[in-house]
Amino acid sequence: MLYKCIVILFISLTVLADNRPNIVFIFTDDHAVQSIGAYGSKINKTPNIDRIADEGAVFLNSFCANSICGPSRACVLTGKHSHKNGFYTNAGGTRFDGSQFTFPKVMRKNGYQTAMIGKWHLKSTPTGFDYWNILPGQGSYYNPDFITEKGKKRYQGYATTVTTDISLDWLESRDKNKPFLLMCQHKAPHRTWAPDLKHLTKYEDVEIPEPATLFDNYENRSPTLTKNHMSIDKHFYYSYDLKVHQQVPFASEREKRLKDGEYRRMTPEQKKIWDAAYKKRNDAFLKAAPTGKDLVRWKYQRYIKNYLRCIDSVDENIGRLLDYLDKNNLSQNTIVVYSSDQGFYLGEHGWYDKRWMFEESLKMPFVIRWPGKIKAGSRYQQLIQNIDYAPTFLQAAGIMAPEEVQGQSMLPLFKDQQASGRDAIYYHYYEHMTEHKVPRHEGVRDGRYKLINFYSNDGYNLFDLKKDPNEMTDLSKNPEYQGILEVMKGKLSKLRQKYDLPELKK
Ligand code: CA
Repeated sequence: MLYKCIVILFISLTVLADNRPNIVFIFTDDHAVQSIGAYGSKINKTPNIDRIADEGAVFLNSFCANSICGPSRACVLTGKHSHKNGFYTNAGGTRFDGSQFTFPKVMRKNGYQTAMIGKWHLKSTPTGFDYWNILPGQGSYYNPDFITEKGKKRYQGYATTVTTDISLDWLESRDKNKPFLLMCQHKAPHRTWAPDLKHLTKYEDVEIPEPATLFDNYENRSPTLTKNHMSIDKHFYYSYDLKVHQQVPFASEREKRLKDGEYRRMTPEQKKIWDAAYKKRNDAFLKAAPTGKDLVRWKYQRYIKNYLRCIDSVDENIGRLLDYLDKNNLSQNTIVVYSSDQGFYLGEHGWYDKRWMFEESLKMPFVIRWPGKIKAGSRYQQLIQNIDYAPTFLQAAGIMAPEEVQGQSMLPLFKDQQASGRDAIYYHYYEHMTEHKVPRHEGVRDGRYKLINFYSNDGYNLFDLKKDPNEMTDLSKNPEYQGILEVMKGKLSKLRQKYDLPELKK
């Protein structure tokens, strides 16, 4: 009798365990919401990301805590802000401390099979995974190298497709009796925006609409903005960024400096296809030799088209993963998330890159599908942040998040779309005047206002996002906004206290 009870209990527990949802976390590098259909893109289409959104939810106010690659990933894994997870910047010798809590580690301990495939970017060896196969550092687009515990291996082909191939292989070979967590993390669409060869001619005959602030003059805001080194006008390299390998007679010494390392990795056959796509266009550009605003416009078109071509591969490969889930009857019990480590400037304020607390780089896409738990076609206005992912995934798996986690689970929002979210988010960028000359700053953003504190340079900037969505005018000295300024300072101070921030170091 006792034996029978034990057997029944064991079977019940196994059934329970089997019912826990799988998680497929698809993560890219630098994919801005302005280039996602589900977020209202005016410049491209992303049918497969939109498919996740249509069958699930889009979070329209989703933000990072520190808009730079490694630190955002550390926030995702730990559910904690940078000052608590220790990974503040991409610069210098910072390595992620893999001995601390991460959600994959805890899921693995609780019976999940876990895998990390693609871009890791945290310098230390991944911990908490049954299987990992990652790009070294930034990785390469063409014929990428991957590293596992066994060493380095070069794959022929295009990184986004290869990362998906490895992910599909892992899904196929996993232990099918266990629920799984797959982190499929792409290099794309990170600089230097090298598209798959089959997409090189896409968009060639169309003009991509320019953002309204392409020719921003940085007036009416902190003078710190004028010091940036991330403008489309002045800070691209012809070969490295713009794919012009020929001599450019009108290029400055700086613009000639960096060569296109991706090109060197290609086979002679691949180079032929690449040359056939770019050479004629580059010759035409050199002949026309545009100047002034026309040159900026040409650079914008060259940049954005390559960026969008990289997204096209991401989207196609998301389709392959979704198809696999469908064909293997996994879609119903698998949470699928699409996100990216931070946003990016697609010409807004005349920029590329990220780092600033302005909307384009502060926002992270967050699109999620969980049949039966999230109503199809939901669009959330509540504020979420990347520190929320860890507690959300843990709660979905029926695991308690440890006390140290600072984010909050989104499950109450899934249950009730009207549930109130957080009042405001805290942001802190720590690198100071490095490569792109962005100063360190912190800030707070609620549903309408944003207060940025350039604490090493010029003090506060206040924006009314309802009246000024492009953030063109600082209101911190406007007499009509002094009340709001005080309220936002209060919110900033409250969040600093809540998250246990140390004193600011100027
Ligand atoms: Ca990034």
